[in-house]
This record gives sequence, C-alpha cells and structure tokens, in this order.
Amino acid sequence: MNIHEYQAKDLLKSYGVPVPVGGAAYSDAQAAAVAEEIGGDQWVVKAQIHAGGRGKAGGVRVASSIDEVREVADVLLGSRLVTHQTGPGGSLIQRVLIEQASQIKKEYYLGLVIDRACQRITLIASSEGGVDIEEVAKNTPEKIIRETVDPALGLLDFQCRKVTCAVGLTGKLMPQAVRLMKRVYRCFRDKDALQAEINPLAIVGDDKLLAVDAKMSFDDNALYRQNLINEMRDLSEEDPKEVDASGHGLNYIALDGNIGCIVNGAGLAMATMDAITLHGGRPANFLDVGGGASPEKVTNACRIVLQDGNVKAILVNIFAGINRCDWIARGLIQAMRSLNIKVPLIVRLAGTNVEEGREILHTAELSFVTAENLDDAAAKVVAAVSAARGKAA
Ligand code: GDP
Ligand code: MN
Repeated sequence: MNIHEYQAKDLLKSYGVPVPVGGAAYSDAQAAAVAEEIGGDQWVVKAQIHAGGRGKAGGVRVASSIDEVREVADVLLGSRLVTHQTGPGGSLIQRVLIEQASQIKKEYYLGLVIDRACQRITLIASSEGGVDIEEVAKNTPEKIIRETVDPALGLLDFQCRKVTCAVGLTGKLMPQAVRLMKRVYRCFRDKDALQAEINPLAIVGDDKLLAVDAKMSFDDNALYRQNLINEMRDLSEEDPKEVDASGHGLNYIALDGNIGCIVNGAGLAMATMDAITLHGGRPANFLDVGGGASPEKVTNACRIVLQDGNVKAILVNIFAGINRCDWIARGLIQAMRSLNIKVPLIVRLAGTNVEEGREILHTAELSFVTAENLDDAAAKVVAAVSAARGKAA
C-alpha cells in the first residue's frame, strides 16, 4: 500500500527526520490558508498522487505570493497529472501539499528497500539525487551505494558512516546524516514498510539536511497491525477493481492483457498465467478466489474480471481441495445468468466433487467450454480470443 508524500513526511517527522514546514490542502482556499499559516515568502505547491516523476511533469511548482499559491493550487487540483509512472491516463490530483520553499544547495538520494535476493532491508544512497536518479542508476551505477542491514543488529552507525563517506556527506553533515538514516530505518522497520525513498535529501541553508521529498509503501499483509498506516489509505488512488475485490475476500491484480483468469490458489494462478502466455495469449489479471469459494464469491470474481473492458474470454481454473467443484459450478451458472456474460468462458475443474461440478455445468445448457487439464484450457482460451478477433475483423 502506498501513501502520499505529505503522509510519509508526517510519519518520518514523528521519528525525528527533518522535513520542510507544510500542510496538505484539498481546495485552493485551503491552500492559501495553509501558506498563510506556515508563513515565509516563497512556497512550493506539490501535487499529491501515488506516483513519482511529478517535478518533470509540472506537478511541483514554486509560488512567490499567497495569491500565486491559490492560483497554482486551483490549476493543479482537479487536473490529471501524467508522469512516466502514471501511464498515459495520468492521475487525478485531489490534494496538494503546501510547503515553505527550501533553498537547495545539493541533492542526494536516500532509499530503503527490501532486497529480495538477500531477504534483507538494504540502504541505498547516491550523491546524484534529484529528478534524474533513474538515469544515474542506468548510466553510472557505480554512483549508487548499497548497504545491507542485518535484521538481528539493525542499521549500525559504522554502516551509516560508510555510506555517508561514499556519497561525500562529510564534516558537520556526517553526524546529521547518520542520525537521519537511523531514524528512517527505525520508521521503516516499525511500520512494516516495503520501501522508503527520500529524493532529494537536500542540503539547505546553513548546512542542514532536509527530506524535501518522501515516498513510502507498506506491506499489505501487515496492515492488520498497522492501524496508523491503514488510516492513511487513499482508496481513490487504487484500481477500483482491486478495491472491490479485496472487499469480497478476493485477491485480484489488474494486468494489461485480454484473458480474464479466475483461479484458486496463488501458485495455480501464476501457473495459469504462464500457461496462457506459453500459448501466445496475455492474461488480463491475476485472481485468486481462495479456498472454500462460495457461489457468491465466484459470481463476484466474474463480475470484477468483466469490469475490465479488455477482457475477451475468461479462463476458470479450479483444482479443488478445500474448494468444491459443485459450488464453483453453481457460482459460474449464477454469474452467467445474472451478469449476462457474452465472452467465452473456458472451465477446467479438478479435485473435490469434480463429477458433480461437471454434471451441473453440463445440464445448465449454457455455453461453457470445458477443458481436461490446464494445458488444454490455456490452448482453448487463446483460440477463443483469436476466434473473437477474427469475427470482429
Ligand atoms: P518528484 O519529481 O515526484 O520526485 O517530486 P520532488 O518532490 O522530488 O520534486 C522534484 C524536484 O523539485 C526536486 O528534485 C527539487 O529539485 C525541486 N523542489 C522540490 N521542492 C523544492 C523546494 O522547496 N525548493 C527548491 N528549490 N526546489 C524544490
Ligand atoms: Mn522526488
């Protein structure tokens, strides 16, 4: 789960990380009021969306009067910001962050991520922070410094000093940088974060370090014990289909293909997507209905998969252990009737009550295509999509 920049900054501030003075606003009038309240003579107005690359896309603007803050907020709020991370449709700006503008002398990069290869939190830093960090990583990877944290020991001072030296944060800045890194680490670990990124970490004014930008994301599976983080959730930033699915206990992730997938078990769902790809098709989603899927759950799964206008056929692949094929079959029939499904539905059932399930599908006199095994199912669904394309042409 991602949070907004202003929320990440509030959180980091509570751990003692220095951040600019500022506040969020939902309207131009509120933006002006926030600017007035924080004072100063120059402000930055920053679009709050769950995507980076805002600076280059015009989502971060400097204003030199309260009226200008109001004008810029008015332009940004309600508009769509297209960055290299949002996709062509962009993201709707519904909140802005107003901050006192910082006089930046130099920009560094500081990040914490979980390195899946070594299964540990890894600190990443660079002297070349700012909006071109992707280019730095690509063209001059030696300028990206990494330090892996031992979970039993935590991030140690000497490790921070090693990193600060490597990026050139020396002298008066070193103890500041060491403290800051340890505080970001503590926040990261306490809150079950998956990623924390401060870019730029800037030297401002009289040699002070300041987190001028902050992005954080958290482990969904830990949200049950992270109420504070959970409350920061902004559902309007998430795919509505994914939100809908999670409300029904379904694990759905939207993808960009045209074959809808309804599967039980995450592993089988991955294998199903692989099989579709192997046969030349492209999955439209990942969907795990879980164990003990009721007919209602199966109907909801079909409904959510069909909310994606790209879906040209659906593959249902159930290997029932805890599940029951007869329940799945009833759910599919209910879905076919209530949702008036027009796209081909390929069904592969195996496991508990399979004969009963097949019998239910067979006697329903609806146009299901049944498959013997996963390979057969994948071949049939890809063929169904090609046939549909042929008809359309
Ligand atoms: P991002 O593009 O989405 O990562 O947004 P950032 O918050 O990182 O802002 C982009 C760039 O705008 C930063 O790298 C800075 O160079 C610049 N910027 C942001 N806030 C300030 C500020 O208060 N003062 C100055 N001088 N530049 C800023
Ligand atoms: Mn940034």
